[in-house]
Amino acid sequence: TPVTTNMDTLKKQVEKFAKSRKSEIETLTIREAYRKEFLGNVSHELKTPLFTVQGYILTLLDGAMNNKEILEKYLSRASKGVERLIYIIKDLDMITKLETGDLHLNYVNFDIVELIQSVFDLFEMKAAKKNILLAFDRRYTQPIMVHADKERIQQVVSNLIVNSIKYGKEDGTTEVGIEDLIRNKLIVRVTDNGEGIAQRHIPRLFERFYRVDKSGSRKEGGSGLGLAIVKHIIEAHHERIYVESDYHVGSEFSFTLEKVKKFPIVNVGTKTA
Ligand code: ADP
Repeated sequence: TPVTTNMDTLKKQVEKFAKSRKSEIETLTIREAYRKEFLGNVSHELKTPLFTVQGYILTLLDGAMNNKEILEKYLSRASKGVERLIYIIKDLDMITKLETGDLHLNYVNFDIVELIQSVFDLFEMKAAKKNILLAFDRRYTQPIMVHADKERIQQVVSNLIVNSIKYGKEDGTTEVGIEDLIRNKLIVRVTDNGEGIAQRHIPRLFERFYRVDKSGSRKEGGSGLGLAIVKHIIEAHHERIYVESDYHVGSEFSFTLEKVKKFPIVNVGTKTA
C-alpha cells in the first residue's frame, strides 16, 4: 500500500540521513584530532627557538651585556634563533596554503637545467662548509623545457638539495640528474651518499613534523616540514615523488615533471606549379 511505501521511504531516508550525519561527525572528529595534533606540534616547534632567544636576552639583561664581546656573541645567537623562527613560520604558512588548497599554481614553461643550476649557486656555500660536492650531470648542456609552477618547483629542488647537504656526510657528494620517462615526462633525481634512512622510517617520511632524528634535525635548523611541502607541491602538479634509501649508504629522492610538448615543424612551403 502507498502508506507502507511512504513509511519505508521515510525510514530509508532517516537511515540515510543518520548515516551521513555519522560520517560527517566522524570526519569532523578526525579533522579536530588532526588540528589539535598540528597545533601541538606547532607550539612545540616554536617553543625551542623562543626559549633560546629569551635565554640570551635575559642573560644579557642580567649584566652580561657589559662585556662587549659577550654582548655581540649573544646578540648574534639570539638573531639566529629569530631567523629560525621566521623560517619555521614561512614553512607553516606554505603548508597551510597547500593543505587548504589556497595555493594557486602558476604554470609556465621554463628550463629545468637552469633552475637546478641556480639552486646549486644558492647552496654552494652551505655545501662547501661540509666540503660536499654539488654535481650536476652535465650531459645536459641544452635547455630542457618543462611545464610547471617555476617558483614551487624551485622550492622542491631547494628542499631536496638542502636535505642532501644537511644529512650528507662530510666530503660527500650530492648529484642531480634528469632522465626521460615515457611520453612527455621526465624525472629529476637528487642523490646523496649521506647517512641514509632506515627502511622503517620511509613510509612516514613525508608526514609533517616527522623526523628520523629529532635533535639532529633541529640542530640543522629544520622545521620538519620540508618533505611534507615537497610532497604537496608535487601532488598538486599531479606528478609523483619517490624515495629510495639505504641506511648509512645514502638516499635518492626523485620526482616527475611534464616536458613541454614539441610541436612538429610543419613546412608550409610555397607551391610550385
Ligand atoms: P627536516 O626539517 O627535519 O629536515 P624534512 O621534512 O625535510 O624535515 O625531512 C624529514 C626527515 O627526513 C628529516 O628530519 C631527516 O630525518 C630525514 N631526511 C630527509 N632527507 C634526508 C636525506 N637526504 N638523507 C637522510 N635523511 C633525510
